[in-house]
Amino acid sequence: SSAKVGFVGLGNMGGHMARNLMKNGHPLIVFDTVPDSMQAIKKEGATLASSPQEVASQTNLIITMLPASQHVLDVYTGSSGILGSVQKGSLLIDSSTIDPSVSQQMAEESTKVGATFVDAPVSGGVNAARDAGLTFMVGSPDQSFGKVKEILDKMGKNVVHCGSVGTGQAAKICNNMLLAISMIGTAETMNLGMKLGLDPKLLAKILNMSSGRCWSSEVYNPVPGVLDGVPSSNDYQGGFGTALMTKDLGLAQNAATATQSPTPLGSLSHQLYRLMTNSGYAGKDFSSAFQFLKQQDKK
Ligand code: NAD
Repeated sequence: SSAKVGFVGLGNMGGHMARNLMKNGHPLIVFDTVPDSMQAIKKEGATLASSPQEVASQTNLIITMLPASQHVLDVYTGSSGILGSVQKGSLLIDSSTIDPSVSQQMAEESTKVGATFVDAPVSGGVNAARDAGLTFMVGSPDQSFGKVKEILDKMGKNVVHCGSVGTGQAAKICNNMLLAISMIGTAETMNLGMKLGLDPKLLAKILNMSSGRCWSSEVYNPVPGVLDGVPSSNDYQGGFGTALMTKDLGLAQNAATATQSPTPLGSLSHQLYRLMTNSGYAGKDFSSAFQFLKQQDKK
């Protein structure tokens, strides 16, 4: 039978990922701070734990999917954290997008107690999480990657080894900087075209058969009604929160500062997403950049 897996963080992404493990026959022991998320997955057969520490006492294979660096620090090293009761030889896979230096710190702390921590942030969005179509970017020791890939294959279609711990985060931060730039570009392009009298569905169709095509135009179009089943067509609910995108752009800017890399559009995107976060858009999907721009239109 399949190994029991611990899962901490059952949000927009983690909830789907955990369910895909259950579909593949893995018994789950889970923890989230939101009781409703716990109750929902319990009905589907998962066992509930009262803390990350209890999860670690019940299994030696754990996946975490949390919002940001501070949550990862709490869940691993906090007073009822995973490292408080982790079993020797455990494999700890963190799929949150966080600061690479925090991943490296967690790996060092884990090594001290005989466990292996790897970073494995994801790309793909909530629908890819639901359909086990995620891309995982893994920073891990060479000898651990085989075991990491074996379990991540059940939640994704691409599992890429990037290098040592922290390099998965490096790849993810670069991807999301480009994603933010392309989303804002798509939003302002669609808005301009609509003001010029073009039908948004037709404009999207033309972009997607032309050189402007990108994921934001084709798979995750920010204009309501252009695509079915994406957050823009559901009042920008669910999906990838604007506050989380702002966090990722901050990580990219920290990295750019540390390496003295010029990233003018990454910097501008960070500022735009921060404006949105501070203007009531924090909890909306990041494709609400379209709605935000529309509100700045000349009336
Ligand atoms: P989310 O906010 O929907 O989910 C996070 C979950 O963690 C919530 O259920 C929350 O209750 C839980 N949590 C917070 N603190 C906790 C704690 N101390 N103990 C246990 N649970 C705790 O976020 P999400 O959209 O699922 O994203 C998770 C991570 O994945 C983020 O780092 C995000 O940047 C990244 N990501 C998201 C997407 C996306 O499309 N949503 C895509 C790629 C990567």
